[in-house]
Amino acid sequence: MVGDKSTIEKSTVKCPFCQKGDIDITEYSAYYSNTYARAFGKVKKIPLYHEGHIEVHNKCSNCGKSKSELKEVIEKGKTKVMTHEERIAMYKKRGLPLVIGGK
Ligand SMILES: [Zn+2]
Repeated sequence: MVGDKSTIEKSTVKCPFCQKGDIDITEYSAYYSNTYARAFGKVKKIPLYHEGHIEVHNKCSNCGKSKSELKEVIEKGKTKVMTHEERIAMYKKRGLPLVIGGK
């Protein structure tokens, strides 16, 4: 579930390439922040979605893969891909105006 602020979690994972080296990472979860827009004399709250990401702090000491290579693979494994239906359900829940396909 996506909260109002990013949760930051530090952990150590095994290198995805060689399964031997220890890689220190920090995970930043996806979150919403609110921005405010003034329209027609009213102030409207607009949720702004921020994607989660990870930070890799060291290259693999065993196979020597670089931080950027590790980040790409680890991030792919961590990021939960949201289905189209999940996205719609999430937007609906938040009461955002939604136009899909159009009719
Ligand atoms: Zn490695």
